[in-house]
Amino acid sequence: MAQDQDGATRRGLLRATGLTAAGVAIGAAGAPGYPPPSPIDAGGVQDGRVRFPEWRGDAEPPSAPTPNPLPPGERVGYAIIGLGRISLEETLPAFAESRMSRPVALVSGSPEKARTVARRYGIAEGSIYSYEELERLRENREVQAVYIGLPNAMHREYVVRVAGIGKHVLCEKPMATSPEEAAEMVTSCARANVRLMIAYRCQYEPYNRAAIEIVRRGELGKLRFIEATNVQSSGPAPQWRFSRRLAGGGALPDIGLYCLNAARYVTGEEPDQLFASSYSPPGDPRWAEIEESVSFGLRFPSGVVANCLCGYDAFNDKTLRLHFERGTVEMPDAFSYEGQQMYVSRREGQIAVREQRRIPHKNQFALELDHFSECVRANRQPHTPGEEGAHDQALMAAIYRSAAEGRPIQAPKPPGPTRGPAPSSES
Ligand code: NDP
Repeated sequence: MAQDQDGATRRGLLRATGLTAAGVAIGAAGAPGYPPPSPIDAGGVQDGRVRFPEWRGDAEPPSAPTPNPLPPGERVGYAIIGLGRISLEETLPAFAESRMSRPVALVSGSPEKARTVARRYGIAEGSIYSYEELERLRENREVQAVYIGLPNAMHREYVVRVAGIGKHVLCEKPMATSPEEAAEMVTSCARANVRLMIAYRCQYEPYNRAAIEIVRRGELGKLRFIEATNVQSSGPAPQWRFSRRLAGGGALPDIGLYCLNAARYVTGEEPDQLFASSYSPPGDPRWAEIEESVSFGLRFPSGVVANCLCGYDAFNDKTLRLHFERGTVEMPDAFSYEGQQMYVSRREGQIAVREQRRIPHKNQFALELDHFSECVRANRQPHTPGEEGAHDQALMAAIYRSAAEGRPIQAPKPPGPTRGPAPSSES
């Protein structure tokens, strides 16, 4: 009788949680010698994935669904080109948090480093290539996509070569060093019928996506002004970032690009006028070839004005501030790898409040990789395709021109839409 009651309670719980017919929790026996787990504790399998009923009270936000990674053999296999900091410190570790992507090959000019990295990530020694051997990737059936983590000026050559062997390309930002290079990269990938995505990680990062939502929903009224800052302090030369030939520019394409791209994705508009000023403190060899800082303003068709600032010689600050008619959104570390925060100031009744919104953490590099993998698997246009990067290149060229001529200029317009469908909430 007690057992029947127990069974009835368990069936009731399963119905309440949606884990009924297909839920295996009914059969969850637990370990011998202990009471069997309740359906809330054991969860169940539904539509091929494990689900747990909500275990917290409804005062709390609901838990995220249990991760549902693809089996290794079904994931999109990536070759990583260039084993520098972004590849080793962010992208490769992010595969461990990805659901649809796995690293299967390396391309590097440093054989010992490549062998060391390959061992750490379970990549076969036979899947390590030199830059000269890149075309051999064509025969590697495990490789469907290639991630390019090379200095900016090498992006064009490697995107074109990867397209030439029929693999899809995820290329780091900035896409290129000129609008002409960017156009060639878009055309090469279109001609080869491969997908090209630019690694605009912030467009996949949950806090930045929440900011976009606040603007689109009109939660705080109309957006009026944007302030975007991306400054950091640089170490000594030599580094490729200080070389015009390898970097194509200074703080603007490296970090100012985050401010520029954010102003575009937050508003969902393209600027029609811009004004810029750049500066390099004299006497420092690091700024002999490139600019140390750029401040630029963008005016959008809706009237929104964005004030952006980037610099290579100031203490780290990566803040995005959105000023609305009826509130303010502040995001310290908006462009950082992690540690995003969001503060919303607005009126509530008779008082002004400043509240912190907490959004569950997700690794933005893993989200970016999985978005591209999803697009490769579904043969779909990515959210940040080559066209998105190409328009930033055109705008950066115009920003440099405005700074050189010391006057506001009309911003170029993209020939068509620059973004594909928004990323799904799970990838
Ligand atoms: P690093 O200097 O750390 O690494 C670059 C790597 O490229 C080197 O380690 C080397 O790898 C390879 N390389 C090949 N030829 C050269 C060359 N002539 N000079 C220098 N390196 C060469 O750069 P990052 O990883 O910081 O940057 C790489 C790209 O990623 C850039 O486009 C940058 O803008 C972008 N990036 C993006 C970030 C993001 O958040 N999305 C953050 C940081 C960078 P090997 O020894 O294997 O050949």
